[in-house]
This record gives sequence, C-alpha cells and structure tokens, in this order.
Amino acid sequence: MTTSCHHPLPHYVPVETVISNPKALHNTDRKKQERHMMQCGDRPQGCEYCWKIEDIAKDNISDRVYKSKIYSDEDLYTAFITDPNEDINLKTLEIAFDRTCQFACSYCNPAFSTQWVTDLKKNGPYVELISDGRNHFTHEHETSQRYKPKETNPYVEAFFKWWESDLHNTLQELRLTGGEPLMSPHTWRLLDWFKENNTNTDFAMNSNLGIKQEDLDKLISATQHINNFHLYTSCEAIGNQAEYIRDGLDWEQWKKNIHKLLSEGNLSGFHMMCTINALCLESLPEFLDYCIELKEEFGRDYPTFTLNILRFPSFQSPLVLPEDIKTKFKNNLQKWLDKNRSNPVLHEMEINQTQRLIDYLDVVKTPHSEAFDSPALLNDFEKFYSQYDQRRNKNFTETFPIIGEWYETL
Ligand code: SF4
Repeated sequence: MTTSCHHPLPHYVPVETVISNPKALHNTDRKKQERHMMQCGDRPQGCEYCWKIEDIAKDNISDRVYKSKIYSDEDLYTAFITDPNEDINLKTLEIAFDRTCQFACSYCNPAFSTQWVTDLKKNGPYVELISDGRNHFTHEHETSQRYKPKETNPYVEAFFKWWESDLHNTLQELRLTGGEPLMSPHTWRLLDWFKENNTNTDFAMNSNLGIKQEDLDKLISATQHINNFHLYTSCEAIGNQAEYIRDGLDWEQWKKNIHKLLSEGNLSGFHMMCTINALCLESLPEFLDYCIELKEEFGRDYPTFTLNILRFPSFQSPLVLPEDIKTKFKNNLQKWLDKNRSNPVLHEMEINQTQRLIDYLDVVKTPHSEAFDSPALLNDFEKFYSQYDQRRNKNFTETFPIIGEWYETL
C-alpha cells in the first residue's frame, strides 16, 4: 500500500507494476492521475482534509503547505510543468517492511504487530466491544502481511532496487517503521548497505528498543557508518505500569538498552514518542523526570520528547477517565511543569506540548468528532482490560492504584 501523507487513505500498489519498474512503489497510476488533476487546478478527493482547512478561512494554512516546505519554489514550479506520468524520485520516504514485532502494546493492533496476531490466534477475538468499528481487536488483518517471512517479497525487492540505483541520491530522509524494524531481516540488509556505500540521506528509525543484546550491539556498530542517524523510541509511563501498557517491555532492560545506545552509538538525534493514553497519566510525570535525567546526562536533545494524544482506540483515550481523576492527573502535570519550566534542558516545544496536554485534560470532552458516547467507551474500557488481563496474565487493579479503584466500580 502507498499514500502520499497520513491524511489520504493508502491505496494498493499492483505487484506486477513494481516488478517491472521499482519506482511504481510510489508512482502509481492513481497518484499520476491526481498529479494531473492538481496541475489542472482540480482537487483530488484524498486531500479533502487539507481543502477543508483552507476553505474555512482565506489565511488558514493546511498541512499540505507545511509538508511542501521541503521543496523550493523552483521545485514546485517544476512539479507544476512536469508530465504527470513521469516517475518522480522522492525527497522523503517512510517505509515499513513488515509487521513483525515482539511487543503487543494495548493501543496497537494486529495490523502492526505479529504478537497481537498471536494473541488473537491463541485466544480468539476480543468480545463485547462496541466502539471497535475497524475490527482492530477481532481480526488478524492478514492483508497486512501478504508474504511469509521467508518468502521473497517483490515490494521489498523493488525498494532495494530503487534505493540502490538512484533513490539514495535524491532522498533527503528515509524513515523506517514497523512493527519493530530491528526484527526484520530487511532492516539489517539496509544497515549493511550503509556500511559499504555513501549517501547524504538522513536515516531515521522507529524502534521499541526491547531488543536482544546482540542486536543492540549490531545496531550500535551500524550507527558508526551512518552520517545522520536518528532513533525514535516510545514509552510514556514507568516500571510495571509501562510494562502493562506496552506488553512485552522489560522496563529495567529497556533503560539499560537506552543507556548503552546513547553511550556507545553514533546518533544525531534520539526522540521519545509518548502516546498519551488513559493509563499512562498515573506515572507520566515520573516518566518525564526520567527523560530529564537522560537529557542531563547526554545533552538536551537526547532525548527530545513529544506528547502525542491518543485518539484511537477511543476507549483508551485519557478522556474516558472521570473528572476527579483527570483533574488530579492534570494538577500533577501542572506541578511538574511549574517545577521544570525553567530547566535549560527542556525545549520550548516540550514545554508547549506539556501545557497543551494540561489544557486538553481541562477542556476537551470527547476523543474525536466521531467517537462513541461515554457509556459505550466505558463499556469497552472495562471489557477490553478484563480480557487483556486474562490473556496477558496481568492485573489492572494492582498495577494502577489510582485508576484501579475507579475501574473496580465499572
Ligand atoms: S512496539 Fe510498536 S508496533 Fe510493536 S506492538 Fe508496540 S506500538 Fe505496536
């Protein structure tokens, strides 16, 4: 599947097209038609999100403007006059080779994690959920993995053909995601390429960093051959609460892995992506303290953190919590911010993101415009975590003393 950004729905790339022309991974017939439409001043429907923002008011700036900032005016003019059927090389590309992952985080699903597939295969679908319209917890999403791990995957082969021939000359940034990319043999093949070849392309990778020591050592050694390597990892709570949310995580080992990577790896950036869900709020301030400790040891960019508020699955949103608990967490976060606001290791963006989350907990009442009403979300919260506890051998009430008391009343 391919899409030009995260707003339009991805569309299928016919396999026969990439076998004869690897650039068809991106240059699909559909995108060529859409290019032609834009050159004629028409609006492809997939970009509706941005048109709507621009139509609200004359000065509104939509995401397509921000995303186009990597192109000069000259580049944009060239795009305007170029034959829409030409195969264009990319400037930025995010790619997932497969969905192999050793974690099964509560907010993830089988489309992105083979561990999630294992849960559904072993225990069957989660039952009695009302708001799971996309069947994230009832369906194994086999279409997310059309080729078995040992089978030749023509899409992956097409990527390497394109990358090795000329993509590495034009791409400004390549970002690898998953699953867990370090569990994919294709990632190691790409890292080997960096060892033997030169490119100016920046390389970024998402990783849960719950990897084996030998893989961590191999990654550290591979980073020595990459000019500009950024690693993005995720967590948002501490100790057993983090292990509950991100099933598969070993908190102490994860911290050791980070320490080793930052001490021995050649990293131009290290980023902590926090997925702000209902459960993490209990220990989020302590987690942010941990980020500050790292910054104080390794420098203010190691890590930078972002607080990304979870909207799907909506029953895991922080907004399902009752007002008194939400207020308590909001006040804890406010105290954390008041204490750390003038700490020089914090970036303005991190302060703003923390303030934004405090405001969100204060003002916003529904996770997103199409979210189910509160009784349905509360039903799903209780039904989901009671099944998650049984399947994953966990105990919600013992793990989350504050939320657990309320959970017992559902
Ligand atoms: S580590 Fe990432 S891909 Fe794996 S289960 Fe968690 S969120 Fe999903």
